[in-house]
Amino acid sequence: MLDTLRSIVQEVSAASDLSAALKVVVTRIRNAMHSEVSSVYLYDADAKRYVLMATKGLNQNAVGQVSLGSSEGLVGLVGSREELVNIEDAPAHPRYVYLAETGEEKYHAFLGVPIIHHRRLMGVLVVQQQERRKFDESEEAFLVTMSAQLAGVIAHAEATGNIAAAATATATSKEARFLGAPGSPGVGIGQAVVIYPAADLASVPDKLAEDIEAEIERFETALIKVRRDIRSVGQKLSADLRPEEMALFDVYLNMLDDRALGAEVITKIRLGAWAPGALRQVVQQYIGHFEQMDDAYLRERAADIRDLGVRILAYLQETEELGQVTRYHDNTILVSQELTPAMLGEVPIDKLRGLVSVQGSSNSHVAILARAMGIPTVMGVVDVPYAQLDGLELIVDGYRGKIYSQPSDQLREEYENIYQEELILNQDLECLRDEPAITIDGYRLPLWVNTGLITDALRSRERGAEGVGLYRTEVPFMMKDRFPSETEQQEIYRQQLATFAPNPVTMRTLDIGGDKALPYFPIQEENPFLGWRGIRVTLDHPELFLLQIKAMLKASVGLNNLRIMLPMVSSVSEVDEALHLIYRAHAETEEEGIVVNMPEVGVMIEVPAAVYQIVDLGQRVDFLSVGSNDLTQYLLAVDRNNPRVADLYNSFHPAVLTALYKIAQDAKAINKPISICGEFAGNPAGAVLLMAMGYEMLSMNAANLPKVKSVIRGVSLEWAQKLLAEVMQLENAHVIAATVELALEKIGLGRMMGPGRS
Ligand code: PEP
Ligand code: MG
Repeated sequence: MLDTLRSIVQEVSAASDLSAALKVVVTRIRNAMHSEVSSVYLYDADAKRYVLMATKGLNQNAVGQVSLGSSEGLVGLVGSREELVNIEDAPAHPRYVYLAETGEEKYHAFLGVPIIHHRRLMGVLVVQQQERRKFDESEEAFLVTMSAQLAGVIAHAEATGNIAAAATATATSKEARFLGAPGSPGVGIGQAVVIYPAADLASVPDKLAEDIEAEIERFETALIKVRRDIRSVGQKLSADLRPEEMALFDVYLNMLDDRALGAEVITKIRLGAWAPGALRQVVQQYIGHFEQMDDAYLRERAADIRDLGVRILAYLQETEELGQVTRYHDNTILVSQELTPAMLGEVPIDKLRGLVSVQGSSNSHVAILARAMGIPTVMGVVDVPYAQLDGLELIVDGYRGKIYSQPSDQLREEYENIYQEELILNQDLECLRDEPAITIDGYRLPLWVNTGLITDALRSRERGAEGVGLYRTEVPFMMKDRFPSETEQQEIYRQQLATFAPNPVTMRTLDIGGDKALPYFPIQEENPFLGWRGIRVTLDHPELFLLQIKAMLKASVGLNNLRIMLPMVSSVSEVDEALHLIYRAHAETEEEGIVVNMPEVGVMIEVPAAVYQIVDLGQRVDFLSVGSNDLTQYLLAVDRNNPRVADLYNSFHPAVLTALYKIAQDAKAINKPISICGEFAGNPAGAVLLMAMGYEMLSMNAANLPKVKSVIRGVSLEWAQKLLAEVMQLENAHVIAATVELALEKIGLGRMMGPGRS
């Protein structure tokens, strides 16, 4: 059964559009279940009806023509109950609705299961038979499994359909909309540029060839090079391989033959595709065919085809790089299967209007960077057919986590208005730049920023930041292709320190692992967020740690505004070891004749274990700073990077608030300065609660700082404390957030929480 399921899903995934995909679904299910009818009804949410979209067994003329209301007929019953319905004699059922066009009256046995994707009802899958009988348990299980697996594929195909319709847009065709998670607030309107990592065939976008002949030549050159490589590998191995193994090399060469794969790619290029896109399509078709073969040996050839595809792509990419700089439009919306911090660096910042990532969530590091840079971003748009977006007009709604392709004039105008509204708000807030964040009852709350790049350091100064609460040193490491040397690090750190001097800059020691990979230091783990991360890596590599600390110390000579902070601490021994190394680095720096003050050292509280050891940790260091991004992820057991569980990630969760409150109280008890540098601090509603809990400094992304400042200046500490007492009694994260937002709205500060609020 598993093989049948897998092969159906593969075949459906490879289908060119929704209609082809659904035809495969019904044909294959009917055959696999030996039923007489198999049909798919898709739910049209606008019309609130189930439309028969494909069938094998019913009248073909009915496809696209007949439909049922949302609770009409047995299909409506399956949909409204969102569960399987298995009926021996359908026409005798009180809910049965006879659709004359389908010719279904002769069928008695009915089995229907809902197709649900991310809680959204997409439609209903039905099988029918003439015989009066109940489908048995194994048949039920098969259809339920099939439906669960197909839901994502159908959602994807449906979205692709939207794009295809939009691409041939007429005045009447509607734009396509895709949902993701808000990554960085703001509205971006521009043209999509899809980028993809080197040698990753699956994520190559579709584009039109600019010059068909040149594209064919580029492909043929790549093909020649791959043939040459294969021959030379074959020759090198010829002494060690048996003749039948050597024959494999001939098989590869034949596959690349002008009459086989090579010819098909060229045909697609002649039809207008660019070479990498044509290659991806053909290779995927081949892989699909091979993977469906019953013979195990032939099935394995799919891997060979993939390998050949990647090799050809690598040569194609060699010739592409030259053109890359010019590929960015003046209003680029960067789209990728998985955006990485390094990709952001590729586009000139003045051309970047928005970001879209299929993978990741609001708490991914690339989203955090985007917020620091003020670029509207939508993350985790899992259903978007990103490969087809290149060159299309897109609207990125970073407030609500939506993107639109090919927007109508009316929609574009609406978004242009929101853009203007935000611009005006920011201009209004500019006058607060040099004003302190002080409540109306006179409580002063320093607001600092989080930085990673020199551009956001400069931007932060413009926004009136009083210091840096978190400088993510791993960001410059990610932009390189090897570890930066001590001198290189020293220069980068000096820029940060000098930009803010005499105000303090808190430099966090290298925090890699989790979702922050260095291309030159790969860490492959099953559970990266619970693995080798942050201080765990650097304590295992004291040579890296010492080098970094020395670079920081030397960079601070004469400025003396450096603070050092340790990430991912889960036990006191890590702090003891790190302090030992920091003292050693300081002593060695002085031995080099460089006189530098010993900086303050702090610990990040971002692992639940640390929450319960505030006193022990605090007594060892000069300050504590909460990393609420990781603390939320670990307390709630919700991967901050996973779009599937993004809805569960919420720092207003009562458990998170209780932990945050406890940390502040325990730190107060030992008189240790306590601050926070997670994204929660940059949320105006979160900031009010944190102030009331006793956090003495909030560090946030520069984009949100003016809004948080405006909110702090608009409330009293007493008011915030009362509100905190009220919400600490509540048990639901959404209710807590709504309560705080409503309270702010009531006193006229709703505008700070996004457009359209008063
Ligand atoms: C955090 O975890 O809250 C934090 C500030 O660090 P990062 O987001 O870089 O993990
Ligand atoms: Mg963290």
